[in-house]
Amino acid sequence: MTSELAPWASPTARARIAEVAGGITDLSPEGVTETVRGALRDHARSFDAEGIVLYAGTNVMSPAARAVSDPPVGGRPSMGWPGEKYQAGLDALDTLEVLTPTVVARLLGARFAEVRSHSATMANLAVYSALTRPGDTIAVLPERAGGHTSHHAEGAPGVRGLRVADLPYDADAFDVDLAALPGFLARERPRLVVIGASLLLFPHDVAGIAAAVADAGAVLLYDASHMAGLVAAGRFQRPLAEGAQVLTFSTYKSFGGPPGGVIATDDPELAERLSAAVFPGLTANYDAGRLAPLAVTAAEIMADGGGYADRCVAAARALAAALQDQGFTVAGAARGFTDSHHVAVDVADLGGGRAAMTRLAGAGIYLSAIGLPWQEPGEPDRGLRIGTQEIVRRGFGPADLEAVAALMGDVLLRGADPASVRKSAAELRREIAAR
Ligand SMILES: *Cc1c(COP(=O)(O)O)cnc(C)c1O
Repeated sequence: MTSELAPWASPTARARIAEVAGGITDLSPEGVTETVRGALRDHARSFDAEGIVLYAGTNVMSPAARAVSDPPVGGRPSMGWPGEKYQAGLDALDTLEVLTPTVVARLLGARFAEVRSHSATMANLAVYSALTRPGDTIAVLPERAGGHTSHHAEGAPGVRGLRVADLPYDADAFDVDLAALPGFLARERPRLVVIGASLLLFPHDVAGIAAAVADAGAVLLYDASHMAGLVAAGRFQRPLAEGAQVLTFSTYKSFGGPPGGVIATDDPELAERLSAAVFPGLTANYDAGRLAPLAVTAAEIMADGGGYADRCVAAARALAAALQDQGFTVAGAARGFTDSHHVAVDVADLGGGRAAMTRLAGAGIYLSAIGLPWQEPGEPDRGLRIGTQEIVRRGFGPADLEAVAALMGDVLLRGADPASVRKSAAELRREIAAR
């Protein structure tokens, strides 16, 4: 091909891009259709049928949510409030636009839910644009404590022209350093403080943090992207009730819905500014195709009474214990490993997070590397992050979690050939699916 995708990317990335591009020869509609069909089929086989997906930032939608998914409706732009749409003839979509935020807000116990953001990143950008001005400071969790790209200067805050300061962090407590927080806030004067991380083993002390943030005249945002499935079920913690003014989250991780973002608050004045930041600020067509599966997902969580969330946490604790029995160094051991569906394993002495992730992927076990709070500045990611939200949906039981830990031990601790472990992983998936 003559066009280049990313000549500025790393040599590793460029080599892979060139490998893929070399296999793409036919750009006719039939050729493209065949290519995409093949890619989707291969993905479904490796990820959905045979793989053991321990990646924390994903999920599979329920059958009912999938059944109401209608991507083509996303091409019907529907802008403005029902009753005063920019476009005519969208009355039926008004039902989705009223129902979905209503059921999401009810589920969260919040007064207002804004569901039109396409992602949590865009939801966070909407919060930044509504509540800060260019040049302001925001305070966020350091990356080694799971602070997300959309909190850091290279992400959405940079787009808003914000200065970003890392919150003081207590690695032993797995939380913001409360003793150091008031001094930090007095010094840095952030307009907004962001908590909620991409790795969260234990709840934040939201009440303690909120008190200091309020004293400093700032607003507290809790990004529950990973925890949303637990938080919505009334488990882990209730950030708004505990003192955060704004809650954002991804709808496709533990929440288990379609890709998208939610912003929730109890404050009408904040809600109006946040809503205007989403539309007309950052969206025109918001993709109505997301709303139906999002509403069904929210209704299912509400009807479930916390059962799924509890199973995810129980599975995480069981898997963590099984991994420790295998000989892994599992984070949070002194506190029962985890209060969420996340597990973190320190693999610094097994070649580091990325190398371990790559070996496991060769065995059909998919997860990601992550920084851990005790790593040195600049040190490569020490950790592996695991989430149990998908394997619980797939029906993995206690004995299966032991088997997963053993397969991971085979690959990372006992030097087994990933390709042969891959057969066992696929066999385990088939066995579980057949029950
Ligand atoms: C995954 C994640 C996001 C980004 O979510 P998207 O919906 O993919 O944009 C934002 N914040 C945190 C803490 C995350 O872990």
